[in-house]
Amino acid sequence: MVRRLPALLLVLAACGNPAPLPDLAPGQRPAPDSEEAGLWMQADGAEELIRTSALRIQDPALVDYVQGIVDRLAGPRAKDLRLYILRAPEFNAFAFPNGALVVLSGLILRAENEAQLAFVLSHEITHYQRRHSVLVYLSARSKSGFAAFFQAVANVARVGELGAVVGALAVGGVFRFNREQERDADEGGLDGMARAGYDAREAAKICEVCLHETEAQGEKDRAGFFSSHPATRERIETLTARAATVAAASAPAPASGRLGNVLLPLRLGFLKDEVRRQEPASLQILLDRLFREGVQVGELHFIQGEVYRVRRDADRAIAAYRDAVSHPPAPAESHQMLGILYLKKGDKDNARTSFTRYLEVHPRAEDAEMVKAYLKQLE
Ligand SMILES: [Zn+2]
Repeated sequence: MVRRLPALLLVLAACGNPAPLPDLAPGQRPAPDSEEAGLWMQADGAEELIRTSALRIQDPALVDYVQGIVDRLAGPRAKDLRLYILRAPEFNAFAFPNGALVVLSGLILRAENEAQLAFVLSHEITHYQRRHSVLVYLSARSKSGFAAFFQAVANVARVGELGAVVGALAVGGVFRFNREQERDADEGGLDGMARAGYDAREAAKICEVCLHETEAQGEKDRAGFFSSHPATRERIETLTARAATVAAASAPAPASGRLGNVLLPLRLGFLKDEVRRQEPASLQILLDRLFREGVQVGELHFIQGEVYRVRRDADRAIAAYRDAVSHPPAPAESHQMLGILYLKKGDKDNARTSFTRYLEVHPRAEDAEMVKAYLKQLE
């Protein structure tokens, strides 16, 4: 269920907004001593911490790939944008006012193709170019909110733990622009992706992906993209209508399929992060889609086992881990989890077989000594 602001609140918010600022020109920086320059300084500080964060993904194939999309979308403005991909199981991306473009792995995992990823990046680049966060800042109601957000980002970067990301994203509600700005970013995002040669019909589709997950998760409040970019039917309809009117670009973007190739070596790690988020209903939606794609299903069955384990459904978890090991290559942990679940059920034979197999396929596992101790108990 998507939360909607009461109409009166929206009217009040609209009244309190200052007039739009002119777009940032390529290479433009705010005037020294301006309030905008102060905001940039705060963003610079947070960016510096992100640059050296343990959560920053440095995989050259993925970074080059996403940077290529940014270059294609941003044209002469691309040199003003600095891309950071962070490992975080959230469907989100942020454009800081100073041009730092932060993309979370949860977004890359959920985009079904390059055009969908391009739409979200183009939407964020539009927020940056049109100085939307500066407008929010100047409206004075959120100055402390911005400070809290950048502080939270700093904590994430220092702590380097996924758990800290969730806290930061909750504060990221500061990036909840008003409806007009969101509409503006959607229009600019869609036009930008079409200009870069992407199929504009994919814009509405990634919002559908978002909406399905939100609905699966139920009433629970969501951090990140779901709160700052509510995927509503209205938004999807508007994007669909606009996509029908934009002209196809003369130079089509590279064929899809590239996203899958760069994502695949990292996908299992990203999916494990999702399991830690403990939101099995929305993860199941993603998993069902990946199963339909049918690539490296062994690791998907393992994650399916993890989802059932989070839901405390041991029988289904065992069945899923068994599916994993019958579809190699599967993560070695599938055997380990089978051993643990069989042990809990008192099925000593199967527990012994699974632990033995785990040590065979992963002899240098960090927990090998513990597993050997289990095996001793089972003798
Ligand atoms: Zn937005």
